[in-house]
Amino acid sequence: MANVKTHVEESDILIIGGGMAGTGATFESRHWGRDLKIVCVEKANIDRSGAVAQGLYAINCYMGMQWDENQPEDHVRYARNDLMGMVREDLGYDMARHVDSTVHMFDEWGLPMMKNEKTGRYLREGKWQIMIHGESYKPIVAEAAKKSANKIYNRIMITHLLMDDEKENRIGGAVGFNMRTGDYHVFKAKAVIVAAGGASHIFKPRAVGEGMGRTWYAPWSNGSAYALPIAVGAKMTQMENRIVLCRFKDGYGPVGAYFLHLKTYTQNANGENYEKKWYDQTKSLVGEYIDHHPTPTCLRNHAFIQEVQAGGGPIHMVTKEAFQDPHLETVGWENFLGMTVGQAVVWASQNIDPKYTNPELTTSEPYVMGSHATCSGAWVSGPEDLSPPEYFWGYNRMLTVDGLFGAGDTVGGSAHKFSSGSFTEGRLAAKAAVKYIEDKKADGIKVSEKQYKDLKEVIYKPLENYTVGRNEITGGTVSPSYISPIQGLQRLQRIMDEYVGGIATNYMTNENMLNRGLELLKWLEEDLENVGAEDYHQLMRAWELKHRTITSQCVTEHTKFREETRWPGYYYRGDHLKLDDDNWHCLTVSRRDPKTKKFTMEKFPVYHIVDEKKEKKAS
Ligand SMILES: Cc1cc2nc3c(=O)[nH]c(=O)nc-3n(C[C@H](O)[C@H](O)[C@H](O)COP(=O)(O)OP(=O)(O)OC[C@H]3O[C@@H](n4cnc5c(N)ncnc54)[C@H](O)[C@@H]3O)c2cc1C
Repeated sequence: MANVKTHVEESDILIIGGGMAGTGATFESRHWGRDLKIVCVEKANIDRSGAVAQGLYAINCYMGMQWDENQPEDHVRYARNDLMGMVREDLGYDMARHVDSTVHMFDEWGLPMMKNEKTGRYLREGKWQIMIHGESYKPIVAEAAKKSANKIYNRIMITHLLMDDEKENRIGGAVGFNMRTGDYHVFKAKAVIVAAGGASHIFKPRAVGEGMGRTWYAPWSNGSAYALPIAVGAKMTQMENRIVLCRFKDGYGPVGAYFLHLKTYTQNANGENYEKKWYDQTKSLVGEYIDHHPTPTCLRNHAFIQEVQAGGGPIHMVTKEAFQDPHLETVGWENFLGMTVGQAVVWASQNIDPKYTNPELTTSEPYVMGSHATCSGAWVSGPEDLSPPEYFWGYNRMLTVDGLFGAGDTVGGSAHKFSSGSFTEGRLAAKAAVKYIEDKKADGIKVSEKQYKDLKEVIYKPLENYTVGRNEITGGTVSPSYISPIQGLQRLQRIMDEYVGGIATNYMTNENMLNRGLELLKWLEEDLENVGAEDYHQLMRAWELKHRTITSQCVTEHTKFREETRWPGYYYRGDHLKLDDDNWHCLTVSRRDPKTKKFTMEKFPVYHIVDEKKEKKAS
């Protein structure tokens, strides 16, 4: 790749991904590290990147502590309940105690917040959500990051992390390429914060062919947040805890405002409340968890999936009643305009006016993320004042690789952070990263030219594969010597779909299927050495696919390790259909050896810090 230009940039803090967590991390790095050099690298353009690119209609995580609406303890209990007990309460509490200050900054920066006219407070959509006119949400937080960073690089995909050549298991930076110019970029850094979002498109989506990009989760979220740390041997947690969403069919429009603000409800094709019907069956699987309030998201999915399987579908959202009120009708439509315009277009194309027709719902293919109603991601240190010894190793949100931090979807164990909590977690990680540098933990890092030159060969190889192999094509797109990124992606999606609990099997899997899935993933990994890219855009697709594949391997290993069905409605282990608190009331943690590429798995205790604290206080 002699003709590719190389740029080397040295910084103190490197932030990978300029979404919600990345902009929070960039902003806060400057606050604590006045004289530090701060660089943020984004695959798209930070003005419109990440899951919030199109805007949001609600900030889903706001305590309202100033009015005593909720306290952090309440949020920990809520997230714990929704995740069937399996959360890192230290991380959740830490985020919750700081999240209000983040939202107040958004307000100061000009994000249009809806107000309750009677109380003057932020308008609540539900217990945790406040409503915004959020089309401009992402440009507003991007501006804060742009003012804070020494440099923002757009259109650069980070493909690998760099390691210190002097000290084992210490970070040294990252490398990637510009998808427009093709230039190679080397970012040396003392601390790195990974904030690269979650993983969509690892399971086959419901929408295929021309509708393939139409998923609930952003199609550009390709699991870099997991693949980058996994590849250098960082530990991961709860990767089996993929999420399945109940959303409006085909457009995946949000249902939160409909349920919470418009007070709409669901019913089966016969107009029945089907959730009640599945109470006894669900209780036989998960015991008293079904009696918890609110009903955990996965269990509501479970009733939906069972009802459809039993022939009661399609499931509808009853909108006809609420939409008779002109105000609620406006809110219903605006909900899509600020967030998922595509849903309105789908309804128009299907002749659905929710005032006269109750629209259909569906359950999505699974996604992997750490900030929504799910908690897959990196195993990180918690804050020193809250975390028990197993959860603490020096710096808040630092992974098990020195100097490597995470935030937002990257971080596992802490669900229900959403946009505001992810930005907050970025701030927490940045504060700790600055301290890590101030404590001189990053002194003496050396990244040899050889390390990044070797990676350059690896990164651009798909272009080479194509240039050589295309001459062997006699017709169509099938080459004897390379596979294209789309062919590889479809192969990955089928493996995950059919063996790891996707829609093909109604989210069902078992040990035999997982073993077969792992075998097929291994062969895919081998074949990806021969992925071919005809241009820089396809080179990005090739690396997205490689990141998705490593992420998928990790998901599959975790799913195999947890021998129970903890979250029916997200996935089922047919060979262990019941929740098993005696053996599996624990967090799962994996590590992939960077040399052998083999995963090892272990269990970590779940500490119920919040109520333990309360008990201590009481005694
Ligand atoms: C469909 C949907 C609806 C949601 N609705 C709401 C809501 O109503 N309210 C709410 O509060 N929250 C909502 N959320 C949650 C919220 O969007 C996420 O919690 C938040 O965006 C997570 O922040 P993040 O920084 O981890 O990821 P993102 O915000 O997704 O940012 C990740 C960034 O990393 C970049 N990136 C990825 N890979 C690379 C790479 N290799 N190199 C460089 N850059 C890379 C991406 O381009 C992106 O900009 C929703 C999420 C989704 C998916």
